[in-house]
Amino acid sequence: MFRKLALAAALSLLSAPAWAATEYLVPFPAHHVIGNIYFVGTKGQANYLITTPKGNILLNSGLEANVPMIKDSIQKLGFKYSDTKVLLISHAHFDHDAGAAQVVKDTGTKYEVMDSDVGVVESGGKTDFNYGDQGGENIYPAAKVDRVLHDGDTVSLGGTVLTAHKTPGHTKGCTTWTLKVNDGGKIRDVVFVGSPNVNPGYVLVGNKKYPGIAQDYEKTFAVLKSLPVDVFLGAHGDYYGMPAKFEKLKAGGANPFIDPAGYKTYIENREAAFRKELARQQAGGKP
Ligand SMILES: [Zn+2]
Repeated sequence: MFRKLALAAALSLLSAPAWAATEYLVPFPAHHVIGNIYFVGTKGQANYLITTPKGNILLNSGLEANVPMIKDSIQKLGFKYSDTKVLLISHAHFDHDAGAAQVVKDTGTKYEVMDSDVGVVESGGKTDFNYGDQGGENIYPAAKVDRVLHDGDTVSLGGTVLTAHKTPGHTKGCTTWTLKVNDGGKIRDVVFVGSPNVNPGYVLVGNKKYPGIAQDYEKTFAVLKSLPVDVFLGAHGDYYGMPAKFEKLKAGGANPFIDPAGYKTYIENREAAFRKELARQQAGGKP
């Protein structure tokens, strides 16, 4: 009996979702980032509120379980969840879009998604090239897209203009968002990196469901290196060292999120990781 229980416990650990270890559901203090940008995410995944006089933009819905947490964060900052007018995502993976259907239902927000991620979002993850047939947390409530975005499109609300840069590879419609903010009279370039990461199991050579994946990553690194960046943000806080920067923010002084050097180092590091994995697979290594 004991052995059976121990085995069951071991198996349940093995089958625990990968994200369980990554703190997606661990609350993190909502905070002002810069200009009209606020962090309303958790320790492991990043959602942002961009406020305007005409209502607010929410970048990433997180998981379904993150939606009440986002609502709570928005309220703590003194804004209204019901003022969400536009919902955007970094890319169509469950940790950024599984809660989208709920946010749309709650707020009536418009949902605007990059062309090549629309099918994934509207199928609730089922058409994702890598995770679509893996079930589990990869499948979530489908959400209808109100506006299909294309590379270079802009999203405007109440004087704020975000630009959608298609940075594919991680997903086919992975999107890096940029905007300019007024930081006490100084105009700063802000980037929200979509994801430059090659996930475990990603097939870079001979991928039947995504033949152009390696070329897409190449394009993505060229785009990311071309962007003017003062303020470095991304789809997960760990891209930009969020917890440590939050501590610095609390201590006062210069805004720690202004970090062009950190951005440059991060992109160089991610490009090197991509090239290493591509070379390994080209030499016959298994994904
Ligand atoms: Zn992802």
